[in-house]
Amino acid sequence: MSIEERFTQNLTDHFKENKKGLIPKCDHQKTIDDLKAAADNSHAKGRHGYYLLEKYEVLQCGPTEKLIKRRSTRQESPLYYVSIEETFDVVKSAHISTGHGGRDRMLKELQKKYANIPTKAVELFKSLCQECQKKRKRPMTKGVVVRPILTKEFSSRGQVDLIDMQSMPSGSNKK
Ligand SMILES: [Zn+2]
Repeated sequence: MSIEERFTQNLTDHFKENKKGLIPKCDHQKTIDDLKAAADNSHAKGRHGYYLLEKYEVLQCGPTEKLIKRRSTRQESPLYYVSIEETFDVVKSAHISTGHGGRDRMLKELQKKYANIPTKAVELFKSLCQECQKKRKRPMTKGVVVRPILTKEFSSRGQVDLIDMQSMPSGSNKK
């Protein structure tokens, strides 16, 4: 499974428990269609129609229709709602543009342009980025002195393994 597949699968699973922010692709398209129907004044709007009009706008970008947060003026820059399937690319580009930035920097970057990227998605991406995993510092465990290994002979992989053994509460290495 590629990182993208794992990411999307994980978010899809997460959506089943917590729908906040995340929109599967089919719902995303349906929202656009319902919104367009609600905006058509020749039909009566239901409560759902009013709700959608209150919350969203459809932005025509060439041949594609984008779902955005309703703006108070046309000059306001759009905040996009993306589907779960699009989230990987969006989070990835924020991660790269911030130079493998951490959670908060990525969220700050994403919030300028997107309306529905949950913190969970950012944390998930970070945990799947191999480059970040290599240089990730383990959180300090009480009572464990983590000494940095300065010699070049030790690869960063070796360092992670060493800390792992020390902080494992009942791992096989602590017989
Ligand atoms: Zn990274």
